[in-house]
Amino acid sequence: MLGRALADYEKDMTRCARCSLCKWPPLAQVKSIRFSQVCPAISRYNFHAYSGGGKMIVGLSKLKGRVDYSEEMLNVIYRCSVCGACDISCKYSRDLEPLEVLHTLRATCVRDGVAPLPAHRPILDSMRNYDNVWMQPRKKRGSWARKLEVKDAAEQPVDTLYFVGCTYALRPELSGVARTTVRVLQDAGVDVGILGEEELCCGSPAYTIGDEELFVENARRNIEMLNSLGVRRVVASCAGCYGVLKTKYPLVAPANFQVLNVTELLAELIEQGRLVFTNPIGRSVTYHDPCHLGRQSETRKEWNGTERKVLNHLVIQDPPKEFNRGTYGVYEAPRRVLAALPGVELTEMERIREYSFCCGSGGGAKSAFPEFALATARERVEEAENTGAELVATACPWCESNISEGIADAGSRLECASLIELVAKGLGGDVS
Ligand code: SF4
Ligand code: SF4
Repeated sequence: MLGRALADYEKDMTRCARCSLCKWPPLAQVKSIRFSQVCPAISRYNFHAYSGGGKMIVGLSKLKGRVDYSEEMLNVIYRCSVCGACDISCKYSRDLEPLEVLHTLRATCVRDGVAPLPAHRPILDSMRNYDNVWMQPRKKRGSWARKLEVKDAAEQPVDTLYFVGCTYALRPELSGVARTTVRVLQDAGVDVGILGEEELCCGSPAYTIGDEELFVENARRNIEMLNSLGVRRVVASCAGCYGVLKTKYPLVAPANFQVLNVTELLAELIEQGRLVFTNPIGRSVTYHDPCHLGRQSETRKEWNGTERKVLNHLVIQDPPKEFNRGTYGVYEAPRRVLAALPGVELTEMERIREYSFCCGSGGGAKSAFPEFALATARERVEEAENTGAELVATACPWCESNISEGIADAGSRLECASLIELVAKGLGGDVS
């Protein structure tokens, strides 16, 4: 939620049982000891304060004035990829809100002036000055589409707007994914347009770092612009953009458009017979669920009921509170796409869907603590290697980039590719 204070979560923080179950997937999901952890911060630092439950204790201690800010406290709060795995595990034991506490802790740090961390400041300054996170001039944002024939949604009406996002638009090594996405959608007969230079950052980095004011400003500007275009739907292929467009923008202002991830649209187009694969891929593949496409893409339900205690310890919520357990994230669509591709043999990793292990890149971890981000990617690469697959497919530029770094660092034989690149190969076309 936005605009919350630690006091709003006092009950959650007090009720944390210190059970540590947020360090593992729910036990019924554990397939082996080796891949039995789910919190990247615990995998790396192995000290309770770094876990979801540890952050509950930090939050409560701060609220009660028992501790003051210190470098160590900021380490605990920011050496975390905000992946939300702890939150899902907690909801299988105590039904508390560790992820909301974490976001509120970060927002409190920013409001109190002790954050953002020095490594995060250039990102937020870049968002303010250039409307992107990569410190690139605004006019470069449309460069990725220079040789494409694609409608400018600011100039002419389109049914579907492709929201490219800063990273696919401005990182040359990844912008082939954006070009491929447009070509594939056009091949399938989708009336698609882009905003080019006019597109703004979605605001997700500001939200995860804790600068809620900057996030709300970006969200409001985007909602106003997207509403004014009159598009029926907005399709995102960056999981970070998709996550905030779908789940956080409705907290800021009403949006008159549907939000889809590109994997959802691809699955729909395949099932309608509008994408027909003729080219066998011939690869064994495993799929990495991006956190913001999976467990964090559920719209949170606001609860305003009352509570009473029975037997002096059981809390009854009236009406019963509906919890987000990650069940309704986007898991099936990418798997339906993979299943439709000829010559793809999918072998799943042990930690998947809402219990997936993060790639390590999110929440500002990559910019502030690169060794932590790389260690997390290495862990995921080892899990992918364990499947025997040749290729890790994913659907997020941050995941693709960080997993690729993990592969290179490990000297692994694995490859990492975006799902849309496999789709383009299946159609027999060029990748970029
Ligand atoms: S959000 Fe992810 S990295 Fe952070 S404490 Fe929770 S499980 Fe660990
Ligand atoms: S946050 Fe939840 S799972 Fe973690 S220690 Fe507290 S009660 Fe247990």
